[in-house]
Amino acid sequence: MEATAAAAFRECLVRWYLEHRRKLPWRQTVDPFGIWVSEVMLQQTQVDTVIPYYRRFMARFPTVGRLAEADLQEVLKLWEGLGYYARARNLHRAARQLAADNHGILPDDVIALRRLAGIGRYIAAAVASIAFGRPHAVVDGNVKRVLARLSLINAPVNRADAYPLFEKEAQSLLDLKDPGRFNQAVMELGALVCRPKRPHCDACPVAAFCRAYLTGQVSTYPKRVCKPPIPTRAMAAGVIQRGGRVLILQIPLEGLLGGFWEFPGGAVEAGESSEASCIRHIRKKTGLSVDTCGHLGRIRHAYTHFKVLADLFIFRWRSGSVCLDDHLDHRWVGPEELTQYPLPKTHHKFMSLLVGQDFRIQRP
Ligand code: SF4
Repeated sequence: MEATAAAAFRECLVRWYLEHRRKLPWRQTVDPFGIWVSEVMLQQTQVDTVIPYYRRFMARFPTVGRLAEADLQEVLKLWEGLGYYARARNLHRAARQLAADNHGILPDDVIALRRLAGIGRYIAAAVASIAFGRPHAVVDGNVKRVLARLSLINAPVNRADAYPLFEKEAQSLLDLKDPGRFNQAVMELGALVCRPKRPHCDACPVAAFCRAYLTGQVSTYPKRVCKPPIPTRAMAAGVIQRGGRVLILQIPLEGLLGGFWEFPGGAVEAGESSEASCIRHIRKKTGLSVDTCGHLGRIRHAYTHFKVLADLFIFRWRSGSVCLDDHLDHRWVGPEELTQYPLPKTHHKFMSLLVGQDFRIQRP
């Protein structure tokens, strides 16, 4: 876009944003920590889902220092259900880095921000521009879609190697007077008007600058590469009863659900029954021998890159002491204590099987 058109584009976009933006809790603050937390939560997650989590999190941890002092288990518990738990672990780790090295103060430049755990180029640009007014354009899914349509960019939005192209385009349009406001305006346009399906072009404040709209090609942008279908993994997990309690294991921190707690179990191999698989995993991961009491049911759950089809069994402890293979820790807990621990979404679905089956912990 040439310079005069770009200036007019910015003016139209920002005027629209000031009038139509949503009143979101993180837009009511200039606190860099609150802005950082919101950007972390908003990655891969819808605004409506984030709002209650954000409010609870900021009420409990209003400063970097309070977060740094907290136990990771409490942070994960507050994040439970929001998904992508590495975000919570990294946020906690970064808060501790800041508390130890920088008096709990968030740096205002992207290079220093990117040294913190979990801060990549998107969050660094978002925090630097929104909290500190630094001239860095943000590029997320909404921004890429808007830019692809505005400038007829043929690079697929879902290919990582196309990112620099979109970043360059976003940077060329950035409003240097107020980069944070401009970045939020582009993202808001993508969220409210230039939506993936059926964009509201008739109500679009920048339609006069949009090459896809002006050439009748809106439905063909953005371009995407086809991804292979999402695989389904068969899993099995077991509720092991002993003395009125059940066994849960803590997942190693490096994993997808690191720090969370789960019933023992694992992947079902080809040709293996779910029950045999579950007993095999229990033996390997805990050293325990168990007797089967029953099959409680099956749940489905979809993660970003795979789906899970998981059977839940109930077992009675027969012999052995817990000897962990790769888990961090274990607890024998009463059924009423289970929800005090951060549990993966699959396990909340397991809970409904336990309730639905009128589950009772057997006392010896
Ligand atoms: S005119 Fe339509 S396609 Fe172009 S930016 Fe506006 S909403 Fe998106």
